[in-house]
Amino acid sequence: MYSTSSVGSFATVLQDFQLDGMMMRYSRFVPRLYNFCLSLGMEPGKIMPSRAFCSDESQGFPIILIAKQFGTFPFNHGVVGGGVATDRHGPHASHGKDLVIIQASHVGYDPESDTFGVYRRNQTSDCHSSTNCGKLMAVTQWYIDAYRFACDNIVLEPPDEGGHLISINNLLLQGDRSEGLLLALDQLIAHDDTGNPILVRALSTARRFRASPLLIGRIGEQWPSDRAMPIGRLLTAELFTFRRNLPTDPLNHLEQNLINPMPWIVTDAAPALAAAQVNTQVEFDRTYRTISQEQGYQQRNLLFIAGLNIDISPRPDQIFPLTKFIPWAAYLQTADGGHRILEQQALYEALMSSDSENPNKIDLEEAIRVMEQSKEVSISFDFRH
Ligand SMILES: [Zn+2]
Repeated sequence: MYSTSSVGSFATVLQDFQLDGMMMRYSRFVPRLYNFCLSLGMEPGKIMPSRAFCSDESQGFPIILIAKQFGTFPFNHGVVGGGVATDRHGPHASHGKDLVIIQASHVGYDPESDTFGVYRRNQTSDCHSSTNCGKLMAVTQWYIDAYRFACDNIVLEPPDEGGHLISINNLLLQGDRSEGLLLALDQLIAHDDTGNPILVRALSTARRFRASPLLIGRIGEQWPSDRAMPIGRLLTAELFTFRRNLPTDPLNHLEQNLINPMPWIVTDAAPALAAAQVNTQVEFDRTYRTISQEQGYQQRNLLFIAGLNIDISPRPDQIFPLTKFIPWAAYLQTADGGHRILEQQALYEALMSSDSENPNKIDLEEAIRVMEQSKEVSISFDFRH
C-alpha cells in the first residue's frame, strides 16, 4: 500500500499537545490516577489496570508503580513503540470488574546534555546511551535521511537581474517516485502566465528556476546575497510531504500513524519527542474508537488514559529512571452507559485535584515476603495416569 503524507490538520498537531506545566512524576501520577478512578465509582480491589507501553525496559518502573498502587500486576495491552494491541480488549474486559487502560508512547531525556531521544543503558558493558524510543526513532530515520538530503540539495542562489533563483536536485524534481520526499514545487518555484515553471538553466545534476514569490517572502532577509547556500532547515514542513510503500500488517501500524505528520516530526528540534507525541495522539483516537465497539467493555466502568512517558536517563548508580508523565486525553465511561472525553487541560486538572496519597497501595516487598513464606502447594500430575 502506498501512503502519501498530506499537509493539513497536522500543522497544529504538535502545538495542541501542551508540554509545559503538564508534567508530573510517575510516583505522584499513579496514585492520583487510582484515586480519580475511585471518584468515578470504581471499586477498590476490583479494578484491572492495563498498560499499553513499549517493550523497552525503561517502561518497567511505571509498571511497578501501577502494580503497587492498584494492588495487582497490570494486564498487557502494549506493542513495541507504545501502540495499543486493540485485539486484547476482550481478555482484558473479562479479567476485572472495573477497567483501566494506560497508553503512553515514550521518549528518553538526558538531563546533562538537555537532549531528547537518548537513554543510558546501565546493563551494557560500558553503560552507553542509545535511542529511546528506539522503535519510533528507527521508523523515523528513513524520513530524517530523506529530509537531510533535500536540505543539502536544494540551493538558494543570489538574485541576478531577473530575480531570486533556486536550484533543485533532479531526483527531488521527480514527482512520480514510488517512495521519497516530494516537494511542494508550486510553493518553491515561480510559474509563468501559462502555469509552467520558469526554468532558467539545466545543470548537470540539478535545475535552476526562478524562486516563487511565496518562498522569497517566507525566507526574507535570510536569502543569501553574495553566494549560493543550501536551503537547510529553511525547508519547513509546509514545503514537502513523504510517500512510502508501507506494510499493511495491522499490528505494525506505527509508521502509518506517523507518516502524515512526518514533515513536522523531522523538522522539529526534537524529532524523538515529536514522534512520541504524535503516536500518543493517533493511538488515543484509534483506540477510543475500538473501545466503543468492544462488546466486553459495554456497560462497564472504564477509564482509558493516554499520555507521554518521559524517561529521565538514569545515572550509573540509579536502578530505575525518574519517569515523568504528561497526560494527553482520557475517555471515561460508567456502567450506567454514561461516557465522555476529557481533553488535556481538563484531564490534568482532574488528576491534580485527586489525592496523591493512596491508602490502598500495597507493600511490594512485604507481598513478596509473604509469598516466599507461604506453605508450599504441591502439584500432582497423577491425573495423567
Ligand atoms: Zn520504545
